[in-house]
Amino acid sequence: MKIFGLEKLSMVDYPGHLCCTIFTGGCNFRCPFCQNSDLVNMTHLKEISLDEFFDFLKKRKGVLDSVCISGGEPSIYPDLPAFIQTLKQQGLLVKLDTNGTNFEMLKSLIDEKLVDYVAMDIKNSQTGYALTAGVANLQMDSILKSVELLKSNVVAYEFRTTLIKSHHTEKNISDMADWLCGAEKLFLQHFVDGGTCLQPGLEEVPKAEAQKFKEILAKSIKHVELRGY
Ligand code: SF4
Repeated sequence: MKIFGLEKLSMVDYPGHLCCTIFTGGCNFRCPFCQNSDLVNMTHLKEISLDEFFDFLKKRKGVLDSVCISGGEPSIYPDLPAFIQTLKQQGLLVKLDTNGTNFEMLKSLIDEKLVDYVAMDIKNSQTGYALTAGVANLQMDSILKSVELLKSNVVAYEFRTTLIKSHHTEKNISDMADWLCGAEKLFLQHFVDGGTCLQPGLEEVPKAEAQKFKEILAKSIKHVELRGY
């Protein structure tokens, strides 16, 4: 597994917990709005070795109660489960950020009780998915199965969608509401162009429109919140 970033202390990445967040390199998506182009392409960044990371954790013993594993897409690494086992042996809680494309690994991590909280990106409605994920001929099977797995409440979770003006319309949002019907929690995230996006020139969805989207989604999802607005 390749780690390219470490946030040593976060009170927001894992709700209700004091965690550190690691950022793994590489991703099987190319979302145009992705702010982490260096991370996704694994360029211009210094790798943090696993030894360095575990040394850091040793020093923070008793301070941190959890680790958030983000990316990139962590589930592209076959050794992710073994890495998490090591965290679990240290009594840490684990939050996983994922795009849900590795259903088999996600299911096994949940079955083995290796993850305590999962945050899965929902890029768009099923028809808009490939474009918003930046992948031509995207196979949706794994994503659909991951959504259904999480909806069955086998682990604490959230869905999250970053709103982009050119990608999210009322029609897409309404289709998402039908698809995700019965889900626990969805965050609609504010897009801010920090100048490092894979595709420059994208625009945010203004707050009033995001609010309208929230109302549409709240008819079928238990908790829908705006994040970062
Ligand atoms: S935003 Fe998209 S491209 Fe960027 S890390 Fe997440 S899934 Fe990968």
